[in-house]
Amino acid sequence: MLVSLKQILKIAEANKCAIGSFNTPNLESMRAVIGAAEALGQPVIIMHAQIHEEMGLCTIEEIGKIMLFMADKATVPVCVHLDHGTDLAYLKRGLDVGFTSIMYDGSELSAHENYANTCIAVEMAAKYGASVEAEVGSLGSREGGGGPKKESVFTDPEEARLFVEATGVDALACAFGTAHGMYTEKPKLDFERVANIHKKLSVPMVMHGGSGVDEESYRRLIQNGIRKINYYSYMAKAGGVAALVAGMLDNSTFHEIVLHVEKAMKENAKDAIKVFMGK
Ligand SMILES: [Zn+2]
Repeated sequence: MLVSLKQILKIAEANKCAIGSFNTPNLESMRAVIGAAEALGQPVIIMHAQIHEEMGLCTIEEIGKIMLFMADKATVPVCVHLDHGTDLAYLKRGLDVGFTSIMYDGSELSAHENYANTCIAVEMAAKYGASVEAEVGSLGSREGGGGPKKESVFTDPEEARLFVEATGVDALACAFGTAHGMYTEKPKLDFERVANIHKKLSVPMVMHGGSGVDEESYRRLIQNGIRKINYYSYMAKAGGVAALVAGMLDNSTFHEIVLHVEKAMKENAKDAIKVFMGK
């Protein structure tokens, strides 16, 4: 069933766990993620990132309708979220399609511009009854790890509190040592910072760059208040590797490869959801 971000994050808060939030830029990843959540009887968030449209994978109008349909017919709560909308016009397109939740990402802008645009996003989303996630601090690279590498700027707890109170966002993405895309070295996570931000915030905290982190770190982050974990790169990689390992690239039809990849991504998503839900 389709639920809002607020509703799904309430489940996370009540159970002191985190909801897995997966980018699903095609039908197979949607089936893999929702299938994994249904197999475990757990709620899940599926997301479309603006960058996936910029990469040419699909437009938000094309994939959004399918995401809403898949969420609606699922046997577990599913939230349909717009991930990393970097311009306000794009957010409006998502809301027009029916996304119940959007992320405005102004992390590459000045603090004032990020604040001002987030306020506009909140006002816009309210007209649709949708929730808003925003970001304070910066992960230093865009979703998928693409674009120019910049220094990440860790989130300041007091700045996060003021930002949430002034903008009225429903969830806040924080930077504390994770990165988008594949990790080239083990991430150094600032657990104390996460705990300090959590103490100051009245809304749930979101972890980006959430795949590729070890189980013990996930558990510590959840204990310290992380309630939504964005997860994609390592699931996508698991799918690609599965096709390669099975030697499917020489003499296979596309649908055979797709079925094999979907299975591998489902297993990867299942493992992640189990850890996030504390199962
Ligand atoms: Zn992200």
